[in-house]
Amino acid sequence: MRRVTILGATGSIGRNTVDLVARADDLSTVALTGAGNIALLAEQAKRLGAELAVTAHEDRLEALRAALAGTGIAAAAGRAAVIEAASRPADWVMSAIVGAAGLEPGLAALRQGATLALANKESLVCAGPLVLAEAARHGATILPVDSEHSAIFQALMGENRSAVERVIITASGGPFRTWPRERMARATLAEAAAHPSWSMGQRISVDSASLFNKAMELIEAREFFGFAPDQIEVVVHPQSIVHAMVGFADGGLMAHLGPADMRHAIGFALHHPARGPVPVARLDLPALARLEFEAPDPERFPALRLSRAVMEAGGLSGAAFNGAKETALDLFIAGAVGFLDMAALVETVLDGLWAEGALGESPASLDNVRVVDHLSRQRTRQAAAARAG
Ligand code: NAD
Ligand code: MG
Repeated sequence: MRRVTILGATGSIGRNTVDLVARADDLSTVALTGAGNIALLAEQAKRLGAELAVTAHEDRLEALRAALAGTGIAAAAGRAAVIEAASRPADWVMSAIVGAAGLEPGLAALRQGATLALANKESLVCAGPLVLAEAARHGATILPVDSEHSAIFQALMGENRSAVERVIITASGGPFRTWPRERMARATLAEAAAHPSWSMGQRISVDSASLFNKAMELIEAREFFGFAPDQIEVVVHPQSIVHAMVGFADGGLMAHLGPADMRHAIGFALHHPARGPVPVARLDLPALARLEFEAPDPERFPALRLSRAVMEAGGLSGAAFNGAKETALDLFIAGAVGFLDMAALVETVLDGLWAEGALGESPASLDNVRVVDHLSRQRTRQAAAARAG
């Protein structure tokens, strides 16, 4: 039996992972973690027969205990308990907590040598070198779960890395692909979260509307695969069928196609190196009829330009970018800033930190990353207050 743990089990990626784990008969579950949704966490823990269920919310321990009463499943709560759950010996750990909060639990899983299925892109954006070094030190494998990065990983299998010329990551273009700028400026949360092709958590859905999600994925691809920034391209592909393409020295492109269903990338990582059955719909190409591609509009989607500046600057720029982006997103969700203000805030914060020379150090330690994460969040709130006042 392979032992698995799911961090962020109650989220969009987490629920899909629970679904796949429940279908397999050669897996046993060590731990599941969640946050506010205690009823779902307890139900998942019972369904998978987990040894331990953990809520990140300290004050929900009693509720979790009550929901698990009589099951023999242990309950725990709080940030330290989430990290402890990730440290419990397991063969495979899904990292699907949203945001920079997923970094430390992922590192804990790598330290115990587990294969880390990495959905939490913030880990690589904030601390790519640190995450990869920790994996190498402990002989742990990281398998990408972001659909584009899983696609790149698959297109590279059996290939010589030195023959890679370019990598093309596709973006759906989000709900505002064809909207004029003035209308985007007035966009509501409901409009921004209504993704045209993927069903995902609210935060990543809004990030897809601003292309901040794609901006994060550029950095994620650079960190994970080691491509140079100018080798990584973005193309808008509204059908979300081609997830990524890898171009080789001979001009050929290897593309990965599949339905917009995260269970493919999760299942690939779960069964790797084998190809196990995954219950996604099979593509009906004549029914799809056409696949379209277009260049992203840099005027309406400045996140892509910011991402390139972050890759060029390196050091702790990724941690600052993510901290500012997460805080700008919090402010947009709270109704405190407009949709286009998010990119403007992130740019203001990055420009300020770069001008101060505050982001030069490589993210060699978790402390460096934490300090910059905290600083960029504070600066974003200050910049938002200054704009409002
Ligand atoms: P989600 O919001 O649906 O779920 C997030 C999970 O993290 C939940 O289980 C929640 O309880 C938990 N959580 C939230 N805050 C926490 C905290 N402070 N401490 C501990 N746990 C906490 O998010 P999602 O859409 O499933 O995305 C999860 C991660 O996967 C993100 O990093 C996202 O960018 C990435 N990702 C998601 C998709 C997708 O299709 N949803 C695709 C690619 C990558
Ligand atoms: Mg993706």
